Amino acid sequence: MSERDTHRTIPLTDLRNSGLALPRPTRSDVVRGELTDTRGRPLRDLRISVTDRCNFRCNYCMPKEVFDKDYAYLPHGDLLSFEEITRLARQFIAHGVQKIRLTGGEPLLRKNLERLIEQLAALRTLQGQPLDITLTTNGSLLARKAQSLKDAGLRRVTVSLDGLDDAVFRRMNDVDFPVADVLHGIEVARQVGLGQREGKPTGGLKVNMVVKRGSNDHEILRMARHFRGTGIVLRFIEFMDVGATNGWCMDEVVPSAEVVRRIHGEMPLLALEPCAAGETAQRWGYADAHGRHDTAAGEIGVISSVTQAFCSDCNRARLSTEGKLYLCLFAQHGFDLKPLLRGDASDEDIASVIGQIWQGRSDRYSELRSSLPPDAAGGARRVEMSYIGG
Ligand code: SAM
Ligand code: SF4
Ligand code: SF4
Repeated sequence: MSERDTHRTIPLTDLRNSGLALPRPTRSDVVRGELTDTRGRPLRDLRISVTDRCNFRCNYCMPKEVFDKDYAYLPHGDLLSFEEITRLARQFIAHGVQKIRLTGGEPLLRKNLERLIEQLAALRTLQGQPLDITLTTNGSLLARKAQSLKDAGLRRVTVSLDGLDDAVFRRMNDVDFPVADVLHGIEVARQVGLGQREGKPTGGLKVNMVVKRGSNDHEILRMARHFRGTGIVLRFIEFMDVGATNGWCMDEVVPSAEVVRRIHGEMPLLALEPCAAGETAQRWGYADAHGRHDTAAGEIGVISSVTQAFCSDCNRARLSTEGKLYLCLFAQHGFDLKPLLRGDASDEDIASVIGQIWQGRSDRYSELRSSLPPDAAGGARRVEMSYIGG
């Protein structure tokens, strides 16, 4: 039986029109500057979805059966303009955001995305530094766009790639897209300098592989061998129960510990310290013959959202394509900031509202997952990953 035959798809409950009430901006409770949520977590990382559309149909994200020709994507007028996104980004930065990730859907489908990157690149953090601007893409349009993205101010890029075997890759993206084109996109990104990080020759380019048992887990070692020693950091992501349509079940999750064990069996690994607080991936370096980190061979990362929760230092906020603020990847509702943008709220009002929302945040879904009964976890009522971005 093929993977497609066994795939379970759950009909979509459309949560995009539901929302949480915004705190009212009042002169007496203006919230300014860096702040923390109810669990002491700062706001550092803003993920902005620039489109809810995609040219792939990865079955763990946008299964074809749901995202078909009749699927109602957001109307164009509901999308935030680049000016609106930049105005909001400025208010998030006022509360401590230092890093912005553009995502989607497929962000490179958004027309003239370079103009948004230029606007964001002109902003400065509270410390007066340029923002760390990155983008997650399926790589299908990267070869064509890498140079203009770099010229606009993009500093690094993460490419999703679920296998090297062409047949496996075509099955995972479910639109018959060839792997060679994504590999070419990665190569062009490297040639234009998106592989460099803060003056270092490598580290700017990452590859994300979502691992699904029985679908692509036999590609783990091949992927590790391919990217070892290239300066590109390969990260393995546990298949997550995001959204409500991907038919998630634990049997298809390959725990990160197993991924590390499999690679370590052939290419010894050692645990590395995190680069920054709140980092989603645990780092593992390739070891040399003396058991020390072989920096030329590089490192891998594992993102264990299912088997090892990392909510305790989660500093990420998510902004949907139409301007709703989500405090967790697994949230059921967002705070609609668009009426503020399109009404007469001042920048200070908007910053205050964002600050109050963050101060009230208590989300920690991954920590609670195992203790929640499936329905209480809201499985059938979560927003889709393609809508709020990864
Ligand atoms: N289209 C772009 C891409 O694929 O890179 C950006 C958006 S995509 C939603 C962002 C990331 O989420 C990708 O790396 C994708 O593999 C990951 N993702 C989507 N659904 C997932 C799931 N159910 N479990 C784990 N990761 C998932
Ligand atoms: Fe599209 Fe990315 Fe989702 Fe795949 S993971 S369907 S490429 S948004
Ligand atoms: Fe952050 Fe929510 Fe993921 Fe926990 S489950 S790490 S709070 S996004």
